[in-house]
Amino acid sequence: MSLRIVVTVKYVPDATGDRHFADDLTVDRDDVDGLLSELDEYAVEQALQISENSDDDVEITVLTVGPEDAKDALRKALSMGADKAIHVEDDDLHGTDAIGTSLVLAKAVEKAGYDLVISGMASTDGVMGVVPALLAERLGVPQVTLLSEVSVEDGTVKGRRDGDAASEQLEASLPAVVSVTDQSGEARYPSFKGIMAAKKKPVQSWDLSDLDLEAEEVGLEGAYTTVDSATERPARTAGTIVKDEGEGGKQLAAFLAERKFV
Ligand SMILES: Cc1cc2nc3c(=O)[nH]c(=O)nc-3n(C[C@H](O)[C@H](O)[C@H](O)COP(=O)(O)OP(=O)(O)OC[C@H]3O[C@@H](n4cnc5c(N)ncnc54)[C@H](O)[C@@H]3O)c2cc1C
Repeated sequence: MSLRIVVTVKYVPDATGDRHFADDLTVDRDDVDGLLSELDEYAVEQALQISENSDDDVEITVLTVGPEDAKDALRKALSMGADKAIHVEDDDLHGTDAIGTSLVLAKAVEKAGYDLVISGMASTDGVMGVVPALLAERLGVPQVTLLSEVSVEDGTVKGRRDGDAASEQLEASLPAVVSVTDQSGEARYPSFKGIMAAKKKPVQSWDLSDLDLEAEEVGLEGAYTTVDSATERPARTAGTIVKDEGEGGKQLAAFLAERKFV
């Protein structure tokens, strides 16, 4: 038996960098360093563990929709151990919203061929947490999201979803889409051997025409949500410093009471 796993990974601006909006109110990704969204490292990790625990012939493809630099996110996932990568890149994708992203991902996943799609629980920039569900809907397959544990057995994906009050044991027949949380287990660091091997692993580049998609279906033009205005977050103030000369406790209590924290 063979198992084709596609892991969707997003290239996001480095949260420690100075992130700001461009003139068209999209996030300015030009002069900001980017990286593989940390929450997608867990998705890559779970795909590798499924492969290591399986007797089947498992192939792991990592897929991203993003600008040229998004190749760095794919390289990182390949150096962790994924087999090959697909990069969907097109100038007309600029400003694509979550609905548009799910359309491009669905077309790419279908073209690549898959049995299981694994996504992160959310990206670390848009943080909407909706793309896996949108993707499953477009593919017409079951979705099992926010799993803290996942396994594949005899054509079925199984997993545990932890809620505040209870945990659910869930399963679905393949093909299916799952998303995993940051509680699903530490993501491995690429080894030097893995980093070197990644340089030789194939990265396919597709644009909208390769996916039979038109510019007006994606990008700012095809977006269902538009950003009307954006204001810079006010600079952080130094805050109130309490120097304890015996009255520190009282001053702190007064500070908290004033702000109705207590
Ligand atoms: C600050 C900010 C605010 C935004 N607000 C909105 C909004 O209100 N409405 C809207 O529709 N769009 C919005 N977007 C755009 C949206 O982020 C992108 O369309 C994005 O591709 C999908 O949304 P997400 O990042 O929130 O994904 P999520 O739903 O949080 O992502 C879940 C998982 O889907 C996969 N995934 C997501 N994007 C990609 C990708 N490009 N390539 C491969 N896999 C991917 C990853 O595995 C990820 O872990 C916003 C973007 C930013 C940066």
